[in-house]
Amino acid sequence: MTEPKTLPLVVASVEDVTPALRRIRLTGRPLEGFEYFPGQDVALGVVRDDGSIVRRRYTIRRFDAGRKLLDLEVVMHGDGPGIRWAQAVHPGLAVEAIGPRGKIGLDANATWHLFAGDATALPAAFAMMETLPAGVRAGAYLLVADPSERQRFDAADTTRTVTWRYENAAEGRDGLVEAVSAAASSPDGGHAYLAGEVALVLTLKTALLARGWSLDQVSAKAYWNRGRANAGHGEPEIKA
Ligand SMILES: Cc1cc2nc3c(=O)[nH]c(=O)nc-3n(C[C@H](O)[C@H](O)[C@H](O)COP(=O)(O)OP(=O)(O)OC[C@H]3O[C@@H](n4cnc5c(N)ncnc54)[C@H](O)[C@@H]3O)c2cc1C
Repeated sequence: MTEPKTLPLVVASVEDVTPALRRIRLTGRPLEGFEYFPGQDVALGVVRDDGSIVRRRYTIRRFDAGRKLLDLEVVMHGDGPGIRWAQAVHPGLAVEAIGPRGKIGLDANATWHLFAGDATALPAAFAMMETLPAGVRAGAYLLVADPSERQRFDAADTTRTVTWRYENAAEGRDGLVEAVSAAASSPDGGHAYLAGEVALVLTLKTALLARGWSLDQVSAKAYWNRGRANAGHGEPEIKA
């Protein structure tokens, strides 16, 4: 695994992909020779109201090595130093990233792959799903605010599916748990990758274990905790 490095970068561009998802493209010479595996992230240094620096982690959505461009996708919800940085960000702004970070990547031995979580899990799910070899079955199950938050997943391969569920719909997150439970009824050599809000990740993990998945078939990572700021190093205090 590549050791994380401190990368002084600048913002190259900012684009609102959906009403609540902002793509922030970083660039800079430190990205020369940068290596990572899909599913990894970078920890950005962002400023708290009191002036102290905290880390906030964002998944590497894609990396263009030739042009030294690294894309992050930030969910524009909540109220913390990360979101405030993402709201104020503009081309030319300097930012310190530390990466690559993270241990969860594709399980090469799995015969099929299941990705599930909320909108913050989308960058990891899509980044990993895009790099699977042709013909390997994979499905992403994502809970986003409403249909305007859907992103197209470009895959010529019809063995890749994306199933959307909506927080603003009557079934809410139960709809996601039901869809994942139905898809996961037989573990059959699969691997599941769960990410997002801590309670959602724990619920999904419990549902998979109840359907006979073993702990080593499930990679779960809590990204944030409702109503509670992440710690200074960028993770929720509660693990999933
Ligand atoms: C390994 C890893 C990878 C991650 N990848 C991504 C990614 O690719 N894209 C992404 O958007 N996030 C990602 N996250 C989550 C992101 O780092 C956290 O949501 C982060 O806490 C946001 O920082 P903040 O300073 O805005 O909020 P905090 O200071 O942590 O929290 C302030 C308040 O905002 C609320 N809040 C935080 N996030 C959300 C949210 N998404 N929706 C609603 N309320 C929220 C909290 O509950 C809290 O009440 C990742 C986290 C980890 C650990």
